[in-house]
Amino acid sequence: MITNNGHTVMLKYNFSSPASIKGGPLQKEYFFEQMHFHWGTNDSIGSEDLINNHSFPMELHMVFYNSDYGNIDNASNYKDGLVVLATFFEISPFENDVYQTLIKALPDVTEADKKEYLENVPVLASLLPCNPERYFSYLGSLTTPPCLEVVTWIDFKHPVLLSHTQLAKFRTIHSHFGLLRSNFRPVQARNGRVILYNRDFPDYCDFFYAYADYYHYSQYPQYPYA
Ligand SMILES: [Zn+2]
Repeated sequence: MITNNGHTVMLKYNFSSPASIKGGPLQKEYFFEQMHFHWGTNDSIGSEDLINNHSFPMELHMVFYNSDYGNIDNASNYKDGLVVLATFFEISPFENDVYQTLIKALPDVTEADKKEYLENVPVLASLLPCNPERYFSYLGSLTTPPCLEVVTWIDFKHPVLLSHTQLAKFRTIHSHFGLLRSNFRPVQARNGRVILYNRDFPDYCDFFYAYADYYHYSQYPQYPYA
C-alpha cells in the first residue's frame, strides 16, 4: 500500500510474516513497520543527514520496531524501541529499474490522503544501496515531532542512484496545502553523540560509481573516511 499522508509518501507491506533485522549494533530483533521518503526542492538538497557535509537530494527511511514491544506505538516509549535504516540517493544518467515500480505509482497518490494498492512491490533488500554492510550508526531521535530519542539510526554509506526524472517525480507530490517541495528536517547538532562506522567489511562498490553522473561525483569528496 502506498499512501500520501500529506507529509511524505509512505509504503506499508502486507507480509505473511514480518520482515525483520537483527545483529550489528542491534541487541534485539526489529520488525519492519513502514518506509517513507524525504526530499528537497532540487537535486542538491533533501537528505536529513550529511556525510562529510555532502547533502543528497533524497533519503529513504525504513522504520523498524523492537519485536519485544509488540507494536510501534508501544516501542516508541523505549530507548531501544526503533531502528531506522536510512538510504541516500544520488542522480545518475540512468533509470533505476527496481525503484521504477514505486515511482510509477506516484501519480496515483499526488494528492494528500490518497492511497493505492501496489502489485509486485520490490523486496525490501532490493531497495538498499550497494554494499549495505558499510554503514554509520548512532542513537538519535525521530525526525518528526515529537522527535523522541528512541531511534538507533543506521545510515548506509553508499547512495542508491536514480535518474533526475525519477527523482523529480517526488517533487510533484502535494501536501494538504499545495506542492510538497521539501519535507526534510535540517541537520541537527551532534551533541557529543558517538557515531559508529562499520569498516570490517570489504568495500566493493567502486565499480558502481563508474556509472554515476560524473558531474555529481566530481563534487563528492571521494569518500575519504573509508
Ligand atoms: Zn523519516
